[in-house]
Amino acid sequence: MKRVYIETYGCQMNVADSELMFGLLGGAGYARADDPAEADVMLVNTCAVRDNAEQRVIGRMGELQRHKRPGDVLGVVGCMAQRLGPALLERVPRVDLVVGPDAYRNLADLIGLAGAGRRVSDTSFRDWEHYEDVPPVREPGPTAFVTVQRGCDYRCTFCIVPYTRGAERSRRLADVVREVAELAASGTSEVTLLGQTVNSYHDGTHDFADLLRAVGAVGGIRRVRFTSPYPTEFTLRVVEAMEATAAVCEHVHLPVQSGSDAVLRRMLRRYTRRAYLEVVARLRAAIPGVTLSTDIIVGFPGETEAQFEETLSLIAEADFDDAYTFKYSAREGTPAVRLHDHVPDGVAAERLDRLIEVVRANARRKNAGRVGQVHEVLVERPARRGGLMLGRTRTNHLVLLDLPPSAAGEYHRCRLTGTTGSTFTGAVVTPTLAVL
Ligand code: SF4
Repeated sequence: MKRVYIETYGCQMNVADSELMFGLLGGAGYARADDPAEADVMLVNTCAVRDNAEQRVIGRMGELQRHKRPGDVLGVVGCMAQRLGPALLERVPRVDLVVGPDAYRNLADLIGLAGAGRRVSDTSFRDWEHYEDVPPVREPGPTAFVTVQRGCDYRCTFCIVPYTRGAERSRRLADVVREVAELAASGTSEVTLLGQTVNSYHDGTHDFADLLRAVGAVGGIRRVRFTSPYPTEFTLRVVEAMEATAAVCEHVHLPVQSGSDAVLRRMLRRYTRRAYLEVVARLRAAIPGVTLSTDIIVGFPGETEAQFEETLSLIAEADFDDAYTFKYSAREGTPAVRLHDHVPDGVAAERLDRLIEVVRANARRKNAGRVGQVHEVLVERPARRGGLMLGRTRTNHLVLLDLPPSAAGEYHRCRLTGTTGSTFTGAVVTPTLAVL
């Protein structure tokens, strides 16, 4: 039996797509390899959002090539494959195969051709493709990603995603519910619904509010998360569904990108700072204790010092619990590369450092205030160090617990006993609430 190794970079959507590829290739007779040295096929599932992610992949291809024996296949799949297409075969001679996110259904056939010595690519868009009939092969565990939407119809000027993942399309609600019910039957109790702008989900009949209510009603599902939403898609219906669905967790990742209206306009984000803060207020009013994280880009073309300071002040005003912060990375083919007044790299780097300090200080202050609180924690997996288990609160805080590996999947009420500023230590305060 041939063995396939997949290395995954980028967002949760790519993690879910790698699970899908294991499903597709499993159906074609491939077994999974966890070590490239043991694999007949090595695939790198890539991200195209930032240039340094792509450079890393090109470097990694050189390392993986060392494991290649005659007849073995080395492939690039995912967003970078889609962005560069067949040109990637010319640019990186060691690559045999280039396949975009809408063409995974052909993966086994293309691997066959590549194994026979051809260098092949398929980066066609198929805007009907949901891989509905392909069961993903997931790592066993209490949590799972479920893709509910693919592609994006927004056109944020910095973003390559609409050009790598194509038009937005949603799975049918009944199909999502069926998959979630199957997961619940096999022991999963927390699902994260994935989409590029997940709360614009619409299957022609049902919107995201319907989806939240339906998934939250599946027996055995105790927690529902979703990522990433678009701020203005938090309609009253969606917020009411979040409020009414007990399983929906009290955490929202709400990408803002900038605190300056002028920068938001140049980014073609379809809200103002004020409108964004109104969404924040709506979520806080409807969901007591909700925590908020965000994405921020600094050094976008034309960003002045004063506009950057508007982003700094938004951290306190929105009172974010966490933020993923990035320096703007110009992506060929996106509208932003044609904007003038590029911010020098040194200035952008200095702004990023200042932003990270403000974000961390806010998180430290908020997390210190949480020490002593009691939260429900789902024990997920062994922590990397110290023989401890890693769990997560509904508010998306990580908690280290002194529990045996057999506790994975259990829910406990835990007191938060300390914090490093981001992660917590905790202690179980009552006997197990539920064992799945
Ligand atoms: S909403 Fe904007 S940032 Fe998000 S994937 Fe679509 S284009 Fe990119």
